[in-house]
Amino acid sequence: MSKRATVIACLLVLLLIAGLALLRQSGANREYSSDQFLMDTLVSIKVYGNDRETLKTAVAVAYAEMHRIAELADGFAQPGTAAYQSSDVCRINALAGKKPVQVDGDTLAMLVLAKKYYQLSEGAFDVTVGPLMDLWGFGGKNPHLPAPDQIKAALKSVGCQDLVLNEQDRTVLLRKEGMKLDLGAVAKGYATEKALQALKKRGIEKALIDAGGNIRVLGQNVHNSAWRIGVKDPRKSNEIVAVLALEDTSAVTSADYYRGFEAGGKRYHHILDPRTGYPAAHNMTVTAVTQDAGQADILSTVFFVLAPEKALQLAEKLAGVELLLVTADGLIRHSTSLRGRLEVQPGAAYRYDQSR
Ligand code: ADP
Ligand code: MG
Repeated sequence: MSKRATVIACLLVLLLIAGLALLRQSGANREYSSDQFLMDTLVSIKVYGNDRETLKTAVAVAYAEMHRIAELADGFAQPGTAAYQSSDVCRINALAGKKPVQVDGDTLAMLVLAKKYYQLSEGAFDVTVGPLMDLWGFGGKNPHLPAPDQIKAALKSVGCQDLVLNEQDRTVLLRKEGMKLDLGAVAKGYATEKALQALKKRGIEKALIDAGGNIRVLGQNVHNSAWRIGVKDPRKSNEIVAVLALEDTSAVTSADYYRGFEAGGKRYHHILDPRTGYPAAHNMTVTAVTQDAGQADILSTVFFVLAPEKALQLAEKLAGVELLLVTADGLIRHSTSLRGRLEVQPGAAYRYDQSR
């Protein structure tokens, strides 16, 4: 073969290799996406890979996991229905002050986590806020401002110290009659993590689950770089205050704009400080970043209720946990380790404290 022919042959082989690589990559980049309304919110699962059937089956299994957790944690099921029977939360609540209830391993795992963060947050996070949530009516159609003595009375039925977990027997007891569990700050994140683990087990390497703003990403994005996730401006729903770069982790936001009502010119929202019985007022929005979406969901509520300084201190103390927040008076702050993975876009409405 002449020298020229050899060069051309080499070039052709190189082109073929490059073409095959591109083909493989575009196959691996195929997206399959599916949305469902679940746990009172719109859930979206996007997965990437080269075989549509594998992607589809994986997503179906992931949604089945989410539905299973949603059923266990559903606090609103009506007595006498099948949903009520399969809700551990309903059965625990019905037997408050009476006797321990045998529960699913995942219910117990959620409650063990919840209790851990009750202790770490010194009571700012408390899944026994049920009686307070009912009093404010946040679960129903007509939330309203309760009278102070009603709040005082409801507070007597709130307190995780009376949530008794027996890990050996897998039982749960609310010690006092009138107590009520509410897993609204736990179940969505826990279910999201379960769904993601189900995808992983089915061989998925790239995925994004968005459960009403609870974000969990698996791996990197299709361009093999970090996923870029916007953090909403708490006062302008179509603007953002920051962009986070995420890889194989989750970012969960708790904010004062999701659910609430106005009374006497003041706005009241659904994240309560269990120590006072009133909505927590230190922050407009907080985003917790950590790998496990269950932990991130709990932490977003923990950090939201705590005063900003305390929240930042706790975030620094916890390994692998990062925090971004906008305080009630419009100051953007974040944990130091987030610096390289965050672009803050404060706009005119907020101040940005770069020292943290
Ligand atoms: P969202 O439900 O908007 O995603 P969160 O994850 O912060 O927000 O959860 C808020 C829900 O958690 C409330 O709707 C209520 O069910 C419950 N909750 C409210 N305050 C607390 C609290 N201090 N500790 C634990 N759970 C809470
Ligand atoms: Mg939460």
